[in-house]
Amino acid sequence: MNKIGGAELSLNRVETVLGPYDCKEDDIWDAHLHLWCRPHPSVSNDPDLFLQNEIMAEKELKRFKEAGGSIVVDFTPIDYRRNPHVLINLSRATGVKIIMCTGFYRSPGPDYYLKDKDINTVKQQLVNEVKFGEEQTGARAAFYKWATSRDEITDTEYVTLNLITEAHKETKAPIATHCQRGRLAVTQVRLLKEKGVSPENILIGHLDMIPDLTLDMLLEVLNTGVNIAFDQLGKPKYGLDFHKIELIKQLYELGFGDKILCGTDIGRFSCFEESGGIPGYAHIPKKFKEELAAAGFSNEQILTLLAINPAKFYRTRTESNIEPQPQF
Ligand SMILES: [Zn+2]
Repeated sequence: MNKIGGAELSLNRVETVLGPYDCKEDDIWDAHLHLWCRPHPSVSNDPDLFLQNEIMAEKELKRFKEAGGSIVVDFTPIDYRRNPHVLINLSRATGVKIIMCTGFYRSPGPDYYLKDKDINTVKQQLVNEVKFGEEQTGARAAFYKWATSRDEITDTEYVTLNLITEAHKETKAPIATHCQRGRLAVTQVRLLKEKGVSPENILIGHLDMIPDLTLDMLLEVLNTGVNIAFDQLGKPKYGLDFHKIELIKQLYELGFGDKILCGTDIGRFSCFEESGGIPGYAHIPKKFKEELAAAGFSNEQILTLLAINPAKFYRTRTESNIEPQPQF
C-alpha cells in the first residue's frame, strides 16, 4: 500500500483528469494517444495534426469504450497545446478514464514555449500540476513527457531534461519519453539515470518506429531496466502489428513481459475511424487484443500487457496535502 495524503491507497491507483481511480485488472488501456492538440507552427503546419474537434474526439473515444476500452493516456504536453478542459469534458461525456501529462515536446516546440518564461516558475508549474492540479481546471497530471530530436539532443531539450527531472525529484511522477523515430533511446536512458531517475520510473517511447526493428535493439534498451512502449500499433507505415507481436512474444519468453506498454499514438485526424481512417482509438480493444489471442497469448498475458503494466507504470506515487475526491 502507498501512503498518500494520509490515506492508504492501493498500488493500482492512478490520477485521472476527474480524480483518482483504482484500476481494475481487466481495464484495457491505450497507453499513448492524443485527444486534443495544436502543434506550434514552428513544429508543423500540417492541418491533419490539429486535433481541435471535441465532437469527433468524443465519437472516436466512444468507439474505444464500446470495443471494451477503459483508460487512455493523453500524451499531449504543454507546448503541443494540451487542453485539460477538453480532456475533462471528454471523460465526463464518454466515461473513459483519461490520464494527462505535463512536460514538453521536442525542439523547436519547447524553444518557443520557454523563450519568454521564467525557468523556476515553469519548474514549479511541473511540480504543481502533479501535486495539486493544472492551474485553470485542477486536473492533475500523472506523468512527465520528455522528448528529444532524431539525431541529437538540442540545448533546449537539455533544459527540459533538467526541468522534468528536478520536478520528478519532488513528485516522483514517472517520466515517459518521445524518442524521435526510435533513435537515441539508449542516450535518453543514460541521461535520465544520470539525473537520478530510477529505471522503473522511465518509459521509452516510439521504439517501434524503427524500420527493421530487431530483438537485439529492444534488449539493449530493456537490459537497462526501463519500460518500453510499442506505441505505433495499427499503423502499417511503422511496421505491421504481426511483426511487433512476434517481438513481444520473444520478449515475454525472455522475462520482459512486465516491461511493455501498448498504444497507438493517434495524433492525426486521418487516423480516426470517424474520418474513415485507421487505426482509430478502438484499435487496441477491438483488434490488437484479438491479434494477441490469435498469436497464442493467454488471457493473463494479454491483461498483463494491456491492463496491469500501464496501471503499474502510471500509478500515483505523489504525496500531496490535498486529497482529491474521486468523481467516479
Ligand atoms: Zn504521441
